[in-house]
Amino acid sequence: MPQFAPNSWEARADDNVMYGFTDLPSLHARGPVVLTHGTGINVHDVHGRSYLDANSGLWNMVAGFDHKGLAEAAKAQYDRFPGYHAFFGRLSDKTVELSEKLVEVSPFESGKVFFTNSGSEANDTMVKMLWFINTVMGRPEKRKIITRFNAYHGVTAVSASMTAKPYNQWFGLPLADFVHVECPHYWREGQPGESEAAFVARLAASLESRILAEGPETIAGFFAEPVMGAGGVIVPPMAYFPAVQAVLRKYDIPLISDEVICGFGRTGTVWGCESFGFQPDAIISSKNLTAGYFPMGAVILGPKLAAELMEASEKIEEFVHGFTASGNPVGCAVALKAIDVILNEGLIDNVRALAPQFRARMDALLEMPNIGEARGIGLMGALEAVKDKDTKTPFGPEVSVSERIANRCTDNGLICRPLGQAIVLCPPFIITPSEMDHMFDMLEKSLREVF
Ligand code: PLP
Repeated sequence: MPQFAPNSWEARADDNVMYGFTDLPSLHARGPVVLTHGTGINVHDVHGRSYLDANSGLWNMVAGFDHKGLAEAAKAQYDRFPGYHAFFGRLSDKTVELSEKLVEVSPFESGKVFFTNSGSEANDTMVKMLWFINTVMGRPEKRKIITRFNAYHGVTAVSASMTAKPYNQWFGLPLADFVHVECPHYWREGQPGESEAAFVARLAASLESRILAEGPETIAGFFAEPVMGAGGVIVPPMAYFPAVQAVLRKYDIPLISDEVICGFGRTGTVWGCESFGFQPDAIISSKNLTAGYFPMGAVILGPKLAAELMEASEKIEEFVHGFTASGNPVGCAVALKAIDVILNEGLIDNVRALAPQFRARMDALLEMPNIGEARGIGLMGALEAVKDKDTKTPFGPEVSVSERIANRCTDNGLICRPLGQAIVLCPPFIITPSEMDHMFDMLEKSLREVF
């Protein structure tokens, strides 16, 4: 067990905090980083050390850590009407305004919005919507949900079942009715000599075979992140989503875009589906929705699913689902401000403007002996560490090389995320060119210390 100074922040954290998604051996050796505040894209700890947060908190603090307008929007709404639900025919004016705004900025001509507290709950809610529609409309066998290996959709029992990660075995998940298909990572999953076009064709054909094997009448929906984020920034080939969409349309299977990470600018467009050329039937949003200043998620239904859900709900008189804080007025006020900031303070323009510098600095690191792939789009990227570049042989699971790199980075004043054997970078959208260079300088120094 760790030995931290009595009554230190580290000891107090260790005594009382149950850590999630945290490598405990590394934590016990090093102690947690206990943070007090943030300025711009930097966060500061109880010992006065500062870190450039290339992880944007957890992808979400895209406007930085001290945006006055966002804090003021929250404060003003706390003073005006601090909390309310959105049920029984009552809801706040801000909830109405935000629903209207989300439909306006969505890729849909019309639609409906349902609010949750997180991305996991939004995915859970979307699955329940599909199950509800199909059950009420007399096709209860249409329940299966298709997602891809390596996807991340959340931690509730349903969204974890959509998340095809090996650690789910420790919870006895997935639940029944969840089907997992191939991950579109061409660099890792492409067969020897297979072109990118042939890889896409193979995955689309395999999806179709799986749908036929399961029975198209049993499939309720296909969920996908435009770019897999927590899977290690897996950028699909450009032809992938159009090919998948064609298969899904053939069997009338809704395509749900999980935009929890990509939505509101991360890939350089408002929605990730815009960057990858597909038209979803619904969108799952969270994280950037409030720029991280309030916990909130949303399901944005396109016109077809909105009409189907209304029809089913009217049939039994109500859609029997919701959370106490669904449509919380403070969350809605913050989201309205966050959308305004992201769209009108040049944040997405900055993502687009800085993407070439981001890419060039990532690509330059490919010269290092153990960096096998540099991948990314917009301001999300990953560097894959490999034992042997020519054969793409990964380091064994016993060597958490990405954890070692991330720890060196922390020591050098940079927060970035180890994911599998990759190091992930997703800085706030307000990053400047000189901060970008500083970020990569610290990363390069840390990589050289490890390799
Ligand atoms: N979907 C995606 C694509 C995510 O990346 C995440 C979280 O990182 C979630 C869903 C779950 O969101 P939350 O952690 O808010 O429950």
